[in-house]
Amino acid sequence: AKAAGGNQVAIYTEEDAAQLHRTEELRTLLRSAPADNELMLYYQPVYEAEGRLRGFEALLRWQHPQLGLILPAEFIPLAEQGGQIVEIGEWVIREVCGMWGRVRDKGHMDLIVSVNLSPLQLAANDFVEALQRILIETSMPAECLEIEITESILIDSGKRIYNVLEQLREMGIRIALDDFGVGYASLTYLRRLPLHTLKIDRSFVQHIGEQHAETAIVRSMIALVHELGFQVVAEGVESAEQLALLKQWGCDCYQGYLLGKPMKEEAIGALPVTLESV
Ligand code: C2E
Ligand code: CA
Ligand code: CA
Ligand code: CA
Repeated sequence: AKAAGGNQVAIYTEEDAAQLHRTEELRTLLRSAPADNELMLYYQPVYEAEGRLRGFEALLRWQHPQLGLILPAEFIPLAEQGGQIVEIGEWVIREVCGMWGRVRDKGHMDLIVSVNLSPLQLAANDFVEALQRILIETSMPAECLEIEITESILIDSGKRIYNVLEQLREMGIRIALDDFGVGYASLTYLRRLPLHTLKIDRSFVQHIGEQHAETAIVRSMIALVHELGFQVVAEGVESAEQLALLKQWGCDCYQGYLLGKPMKEEAIGALPVTLESV
């Protein structure tokens, strides 16, 4: 439906219209998705440098009976706009804590599970209380829970967010800065935040070994993170060459398709506690 006659500029293409239609449809369907048990978690393993299983990152999926599998990049923004993200995020944390207990009972001791947090969750007034309640109800040790935040959390949030993060730290929860390097990376944040872990974004890891700039950047990032006293996790490790370089530079932990794709909880039992290839 292009209407580009005369001076008029085409605003909509048919693709745009279809996309718009899907977005509106998802927006509506999302309202009932949690109650209809359509949301589920996949878990991607994270390994330490010696090959020991460190734990998992929980990744949300939406399995819709007609539309199929919908990825978080598409529906999380809608859940944020629609205000459901706080409720969904709480469900994610509760689910992850339950999963931790079940996996421990099967012999995987002391694993760290990581949960992605929307800035809106951290900003909610009762976040700390809600989290405390979940930890108690699920008997989850705080030290085994890691929350992943992104730099966007810090942009327009004031001192309150720092206080919330400080409270979480005092509870014993680990805090990871996700997608390190892509955002508004200011070294000031790094000094001010109560962090345990930094996750180097896949967009950097992807090109190490091929592109000189990326290679130098990742190597320097690892050194910087260590100077600051944090642990460093490389995301999106897809090749043996990337793994070898990261190991050579002293990276602490690795996550990526080379080591394991996101999987359902049922598949975790079969995972080796140490991976020979790391
Ligand atoms: P993220 O936190 O950066 O998560 C890593 C993404 O990279 C995941 O995509 C994962 O499946 C993918 N990935 C991992 N290893 C590889 C690899 O080797 N190669 C490639 N090409 N990709 C890899 P996913 O699951 O689609 O999640 C996308 C984003 O959605 C996440 O990015 C995170 O920001 C957000 N997200 C996921 N689950 C949640 C959640 O429970 N709550 C919130 N607020 N956001 C979530
Ligand atoms: Ca993440
Ligand atoms: Ca990430
Ligand atoms: Ca990323």
